[in-house]
Amino acid sequence: MTFSVGVDVGGTKILAGLVDESGAIVTTARRESPRNDANKALAVVAEVVAELSAPYPGAVVGVGLGVAGPVDSSRSTVFFAPNLGWSNVPARALLEEVVGVPVVVENDGNAAAWGEFKFGAGAGVEDLTMVTVGTGIGGGIIIDGVLLRGAHGAAGEIGHMNAIPDGLPCACGRNGCWEQYASGNALVRDARALAASRRGEAGLLLSLGDGTPEGVQGVHLTKAAELGDLVAIDAFRGVGTWLGRGLADLAAILDPTAFVIGGGVSEAGDFLLTSARQTLSDKLSGKRQRPTPEIRLAMLGNRAGLIGAADLARTNSQSLRAS
Ligand SMILES: [Zn+2]
Repeated sequence: MTFSVGVDVGGTKILAGLVDESGAIVTTARRESPRNDANKALAVVAEVVAELSAPYPGAVVGVGLGVAGPVDSSRSTVFFAPNLGWSNVPARALLEEVVGVPVVVENDGNAAAWGEFKFGAGAGVEDLTMVTVGTGIGGGIIIDGVLLRGAHGAAGEIGHMNAIPDGLPCACGRNGCWEQYASGNALVRDARALAASRRGEAGLLLSLGDGTPEGVQGVHLTKAAELGDLVAIDAFRGVGTWLGRGLADLAAILDPTAFVIGGGVSEAGDFLLTSARQTLSDKLSGKRQRPTPEIRLAMLGNRAGLIGAADLARTNSQSLRAS
């Protein structure tokens, strides 16, 4: 039995796991993420790799790193990771020097898509688009069983498709990006506005926070919807409709068998997905001539990225040995 280590390098924490060839996590380790210091962060990564590998000497074949930002197409250098404060970090070379096994660096959205494709909701599918609905929207695209990276490693940034010309400002510098309408941030913003304009109906939702519309948080919304709160249900329906519109555009370009929806907001399940499915089916181009892509819930939760990164490292080490 051999293993690979997958590491999710996030803005607040570093989560690593020793993963076997079936995608099962054997052990995990977690550390605080040092911000704005790539060398320090990579030293922490090397430390957790050593810790996880220690009980299995010689059995770890590679290390996969998932990072929130674009990575060059040779999967070596992180161009830019705003949450970490990294720019142009040759993470692969720096880490390989210390850990002594081959390293692969991958965008975290791509790594999560690969994890779901190999071991989660994408089982049995060759063409899959993963949509991670968190505070923003991340993505990863698999076509004919191959992860799409693009010429500059920046493919799959689907949250920044334009939904409304000159719409709401986005952190990327443009206006009207899809993630301004179909993300967790959009959900909370819309729910607060609905709670303010329909205060009489929003008693239950408001009671979960501090009693004011501004006090409504994401965690309150799923709970309120489950308890039948119409304002929360309508907020999910609105965001789900926006989600479905974007999926229809993605289907026109990518023609996936399935969309896999992950991220924190996906935990609301059908409150989000019923309207997304309806809208995708309504808006799909050429819908009489083609099947509507399935919408599936992600299965691996916040472990998808590290499981995917570990498997990409394993696949890479196999191709290195074969060549
Ligand atoms: Zn944007």
